[in-house]
Amino acid sequence: MKPETLAIHEPMLRRDGAVAPPIHMTTTFEHGALGTDLPHGFLYGRHGNPNVSDLETRLAALEGGVDAIAFASGMGAASAMLTALKPGARAVFHRDLYFDVKTLARTELAKKNVAVEFVDMRDMVAVHTALTKPAALVWLETPSNPQIDVIDIAAIAEAANKAGAMTAVDGTFATPALQRPLALGADVVMHSATKFMGGHSDVQGGVLVTKAKDLADELRTIRKITGGILSPFSAWLIARGLQTLYCRMDKHCDNAQSLAEFLEAHPAVEKVRYPGLKSNPGHEIAARQMSRPGGIISVEIKGGQAGALAVASGLRIFVNATSLGGVESLVEHRASLEGADTTTPEGLLRLSVGLEHIDDLIADFQQALAAI
Ligand code: PLP
Repeated sequence: MKPETLAIHEPMLRRDGAVAPPIHMTTTFEHGALGTDLPHGFLYGRHGNPNVSDLETRLAALEGGVDAIAFASGMGAASAMLTALKPGARAVFHRDLYFDVKTLARTELAKKNVAVEFVDMRDMVAVHTALTKPAALVWLETPSNPQIDVIDIAAIAEAANKAGAMTAVDGTFATPALQRPLALGADVVMHSATKFMGGHSDVQGGVLVTKAKDLADELRTIRKITGGILSPFSAWLIARGLQTLYCRMDKHCDNAQSLAEFLEAHPAVEKVRYPGLKSNPGHEIAARQMSRPGGIISVEIKGGQAGALAVASGLRIFVNATSLGGVESLVEHRASLEGADTTTPEGLLRLSVGLEHIDDLIADFQQALAAI
């Protein structure tokens, strides 16, 4: 079956003729007569739950992995992967990353005596140089948050593999509907399911999908002992979100492409970062490794911070709020949220382009840009 079909039909939990699956709101499961046998396959809510397993099976299939492990948030997934690093190991990260992942790498990994290096992975010479020293893990986002860097997954995975390092790709902005990092050579793909997968700004979750069973087992053990499992209701909501993911992503991409082209031609705009634009340095790589360029645009407004803040507060349809990937359009001045350590340009607004009519989204920017 094609992924679009797999995302919709997963009859594993269907029972009693109900077409939609039930939600298993239980913390514990009945043992067999021995007390150690598990006739229903589950023991305790923190270890596993049918809704979580159902979601994991779907996600492993959609990403082409052997297993998936679902967490209570994207950060839960990222921390499990980084917790698996051994003391004394070294990890190489792309320079532009979701801010809390960067902070996690800088603070918690340092406590574990894991050496961390940030490199610009758009530059393969820099990557090869960084990999001349032993490394256990290479971690990147593509497209990255918030600067929309596009990284060549196949080239990085090949270099990491030669150096004996694992490659983990945070594919939150792309989702499996647009990009499949495991097929390009990555070992692990991570998502914040809070974003496009859930798709409605009403559920928090995260996932790691692996190619290797032993790594999946280790990550599932880390989840069990650190307590980061996704709740059954959240798993149910994310599984429901997956059913419309493929058609939602198409519309996000249609709207983002038209808005990016409008913004690029506007005199109040300094720069548009969107891989669907021919002018974008990542355009060719994105065309190779993504089926479409995604629903997130970063736009730099002339006049730096003052210009960007004025536009963000002048927009009427775009909601000025953090996060992304929901049906509604959102705008955010990332540098303000990231604080003193930010490397994000002050004029940059991150746009999560929603599913509203494109004429209304363009008209909203027209009026907000005209007012500055
Ligand atoms: N990775 C990326 C690219 C993100 O954008 C986010 C959240 O914005 C995360 C990870 C963290 O996900 P969560 O907020 O679900 O913990």
